[in-house]
Amino acid sequence: MGSFGQFWAALQEHTGVGAMRVVDIINKKKKGEALTKEEIEFFVQGYVKGEIPDYQIAALYMAIYFQGMNDEEIADLTMAYVNSGETIDLSGIAGVKVDKHSTGGVGDKISLIVIPLVASLGIPVAKMSGRGLGHTGGTIDKLEAIQGFRTALSTGEFIANVNNHGMAVVGQTANLTPADKLTYALRDVTGTVDSIPLIAGSIMSKKIASGADAIVLDVKVGSGAFMKSLPEAKKLAECMVQIGKSLKRRTIAIITDMNQPLGHEVGNANEIKEVIDVLKGRGAADETRIALTIASYMAIASGNYHDFQSTYAELQQVIASGKAIEKLKELISIQGGNSQIVHEPAQLPQAKHHIEVLANHAGYISSIDAEQIGLVAMLLGAGRKKKDDPIDYAAGVTLLKKVGDYVDLDEPLCILHTNLEYVEADVLKAYGFQESKPDPIEYIHEVVK
Ligand code: URA
Repeated sequence: MGSFGQFWAALQEHTGVGAMRVVDIINKKKKGEALTKEEIEFFVQGYVKGEIPDYQIAALYMAIYFQGMNDEEIADLTMAYVNSGETIDLSGIAGVKVDKHSTGGVGDKISLIVIPLVASLGIPVAKMSGRGLGHTGGTIDKLEAIQGFRTALSTGEFIANVNNHGMAVVGQTANLTPADKLTYALRDVTGTVDSIPLIAGSIMSKKIASGADAIVLDVKVGSGAFMKSLPEAKKLAECMVQIGKSLKRRTIAIITDMNQPLGHEVGNANEIKEVIDVLKGRGAADETRIALTIASYMAIASGNYHDFQSTYAELQQVIASGKAIEKLKELISIQGGNSQIVHEPAQLPQAKHHIEVLANHAGYISSIDAEQIGLVAMLLGAGRKKKDDPIDYAAGVTLLKKVGDYVDLDEPLCILHTNLEYVEADVLKAYGFQESKPDPIEYIHEVVK
């Protein structure tokens, strides 16, 4: 009794003398100094407990936005987020569990394509996914467009499905990385989303908390992505790969193009229809190539496959043989959904109105602003303005033409699907035209390992 340490702790408790203060941490970061692990844990824990107000975390995150963080700080931030809530123990599943995450895109249905593809190779896929917000969609919403599909599984059922069928998809539980949930909502309204250390910590914490042994990251670059330029996207990719390595997770990042929406469908039910097309071998070139590339790297990250070209070719064969579509059917069926939609996609929710939008220019399409198309899809009913808004699974946009295609004046560019009687949405604003044929788009920009 009565050690100096106890005396000092008691003094701090009663007087605050020598105690850590958020304002000092804000000032330190404002000057560009590195924060210690203790300081990072202090503000993360304090914020989650409600002891630190929004305005101090907003100021601190703006300081981080401008001053950045070093690798050690980002790894500490990641682990502070992980330790703010529950973690999922996947040790009940045999083998290396590979997870995949996208930094967010429009028409991004890649997860739904790669789950059955990778599972077809015998590699366990235990996937936790999120819902859409604003102009971006979410895997869980898309799956719920399938009648009966259950995305809320108990941990026991989730693990059993992966052990018995090689795959399962579940919505994120409320208690996983609460620090990320709280800070993400704050970043969204304080202009601090597009910060490399904050995105890296946010994404990697979710992957680590959900029990992944190996992680494949789809880092989007382009007008529809957080990272608008290749050097920025590369920095983010390298940052996340570095965090993964420092936390002993095999991590590979693939930088993929988001200068136009992926594939032809943006919405929910219509995206499921497109997933079926890809897995039957009739998919759009961009998403087929990106999905096969991501699935190949997931196989490589599992440690069971080594060579990219031969893995890619094997996955093409998985599609050609019909195995991939059968695996999707199995996934839908084990999670309680109507698996008949694989044969009859018309059984998916259908909108009342289908409005053709005609080109107001003749020429080659030079750009399709993914963010604007995502926004239009949201206004048609396919997305949420606020976190708890209901969504209309039948609503969305079908792009009839993509970048590089030629259109005549008044030729249909896209179709809007909606159940609303009146929508004000400027879809033509998303399109750019030019007279000469644009250079072909590179779908895969770089791989960072
Ligand atoms: N996706 C996330 O999960 N977090 C971010 O910060 C950005 C994109």
